[in-house]
Amino acid sequence: AFYAVEGVDGCGKSGMVRYLTDHLHALGCEGIATREPGGTPQGERIRALILSGTDDAWDPYAELLLMTAARVEHVRRVILPTRALGRFVISDRYVGSTIAYQGAGRGMAERFIRDLHATAVGAVWPDLTIVLDLDPAIALGRSRKRLTDTAVDEGRFETLDLDFHRRIRASFLDQARRDPDRHVVVDATGTPDEVRARTVAALDEWHRG
Ligand code: C5P
Repeated sequence: AFYAVEGVDGCGKSGMVRYLTDHLHALGCEGIATREPGGTPQGERIRALILSGTDDAWDPYAELLLMTAARVEHVRRVILPTRALGRFVISDRYVGSTIAYQGAGRGMAERFIRDLHATAVGAVWPDLTIVLDLDPAIALGRSRKRLTDTAVDEGRFETLDLDFHRRIRASFLDQARRDPDRHVVVDATGTPDEVRARTVAALDEWHRG
């Protein structure tokens, strides 16, 4: 299966991707974790281009095309070949993030984003997208703490613009509402253990349904 994990900056996606990957491996499933933008050498170079710099250096169209370019490489080189081997793929972000950030966040029309995806990538959508839902005011507090703790400065997007991040959150919830069979929304408040337990329960329920 192909899973994507989505959510606002600081919602706990990356830790969840690691956890779910270990969880599936422990169940005897073969597969990999990956991320966007990134996931291939080409995509990681594009990631570095987009995430370096301190302000909105990229025009929204240019940013959308770069995100899509990274995704084309990711899908062709990683996602499709892995899926073809019958293995799972868990991606930390996918096109849902583009609809949220470049669409709801930066004003690109969703229709255009979807057409671009259909043309450049093809009809490759996750079987299931897990939305870790968290108020951005809480999430940004978490990610600021992490940035301070680790001194990692990849945070060109981690601005304090709460209104921007509220649009991102609303977009993920809206995407889930419009396509409920392929989304689960998980309450991401509380401790990592609590969120993990909710996520595994939601996954089990989805697999049974
Ligand atoms: O969460 P992650 O570390 O993967 O994302 C890195 C940064 O890129 C985040 O600040 C995120 O908001 C931003 N991003 C974006 N548009 C996307 C994907 C990620 O602005 N489509």
